[in-house]
Amino acid sequence: MDCLFCTIVAGEIPAEEIYRDADAIAIVDVNPQAPKHLLVLPRKHYATVTEIVDGGDEALLGHIVAVATKLARDVGSRGFRLVVNTGTDGGQTVDHVHVHVLAGRRMTWPPG
Ligand code: AMP
Ligand code: ZN
Repeated sequence: MDCLFCTIVAGEIPAEEIYRDADAIAIVDVNPQAPKHLLVLPRKHYATVTEIVDGGDEALLGHIVAVATKLARDVGSRGFRLVVNTGTDGGQTVDHVHVHVLAGRRMTWPPG
């Protein structure tokens, strides 16, 4: 399968990896939208959160959100934002599910 984030999980293309466990990794986003911008991705390929839920793997969904929260807590003492863009209207550009961790500035609402 031709998936950018699977290639990163496999170590076949470089990324600034800051966390790895049996089920997930976290990398620094190459195009940061905040002073701290990380991505948490499952090592197993799922295109979207919908696919994870449809696959009955809610434990994995909980895990990546928990990892994102722990990393966010470390970089965003004044608060942070977790984002999961999903599908075309959701603005997803890489079809391997990932949780954005954004921190280090005051976020605005509504998002674009
Ligand atoms: P999304 O638009 O929600 O699918 O998010 C995809 C994110 O992946 C964007 O924030 C990109 O900047 C980021 N990205 C794309 N390629 C890479 C890469 N090689 N390493 C790290 N982050 C990447
Ligand atoms: Zn993938």
